Amino acid sequence: MIVHAKAKVNLALDVLGKRADGYHELKMIMQTVLLNDNVCVEKTTRAGIECSCNLPFLPKDTRNLAVLAARRMLDDFMLPGGVKIDIHKRIPVSAGLAGGSSDCAAVLLAMNKLYGLGLSLEALMSIGASMGADVPFCVVGNAAQRGVTYLAQGVGERLTQLHSCPCCAIVIAKPAFPLSTADVFAAFDNNAVTQRNAEIQRPEFGILYSALKAGDLSTLAKNMINVLEYANLKKYPQIYELKQFMMKLGAAGALMSGSGPSVFAVFTEKNMALAASQAIKQQFKLREVFVTGIDITRNSK
Ligand code: ATP
Repeated sequence: MIVHAKAKVNLALDVLGKRADGYHELKMIMQTVLLNDNVCVEKTTRAGIECSCNLPFLPKDTRNLAVLAARRMLDDFMLPGGVKIDIHKRIPVSAGLAGGSSDCAAVLLAMNKLYGLGLSLEALMSIGASMGADVPFCVVGNAAQRGVTYLAQGVGERLTQLHSCPCCAIVIAKPAFPLSTADVFAAFDNNAVTQRNAEIQRPEFGILYSALKAGDLSTLAKNMINVLEYANLKKYPQIYELKQFMMKLGAAGALMSGSGPSVFAVFTEKNMALAASQAIKQQFKLREVFVTGIDITRNSK
């Protein structure tokens, strides 16, 4: 069976503190978007996991989150035989778009169906949480027919459904430089030590919840804030340049997603988004620029 493993963007991201275990306490609004990988999962009579992928540089063993998910399911439920997984990646890798977590969630959902395990979404989310903080959100996101919007707290695993984000077009641009999640958080911590984080704007969640409830895309987009952006703008000016350029092209708002480096922009009109994506490709000479969107029915909370 084929599962569409959806990417996510963060409409807001705040870091509330650092826990004793070294993880950061986060508060985020997560949104699925229509950009997806296709994850094909089949049962095999031969034991073991075979994995193939259109990106040769990705690992095919349990370092790949999709394979790790299959291993967990086979072992935890003592399933007979094995599985074959083929991943067609479209979501850029190491981009702040939860591509690996989404592939992981896709395998959990597929194996639950293929083996008739009858596990609830909550059960799959809790298995997923042990493999990555974004996996529980990806489980609900991939299980849903339409786009979903959630508040994520803790390290990202504590989820509360919010009113869905209004329908819009989204342009996602992935800068060509890599950005490690650990380095991005380290830069944030470093800023905190030098007090510079005191100057940064933080998301006003009350305004964002009200905008979601009212279906007010303009207020929502204008108030999108990711506190991880600030610490990295000096070192990676292209993030700021992309945001500025997107706003000039008529975006209602633009933001770095997660720990970056992808930057996304919200457009009310698909035509504007299509034109913006062309302009961004030319101006920044980027290969990975996507026009996608959010598909929802209003008030589909
Ligand atoms: P997040 O937004 O959850 O922080 P990300 O989009 O920044 O995730 P991913 O694309 O999920 O990052 O991948 C980051 C790392 O995970 C890479 O080093 C990659 O090798 C590894 N990885 C493991 N499995 C996968 C997979 N199925 N797809 C992509 N990357 C994977």
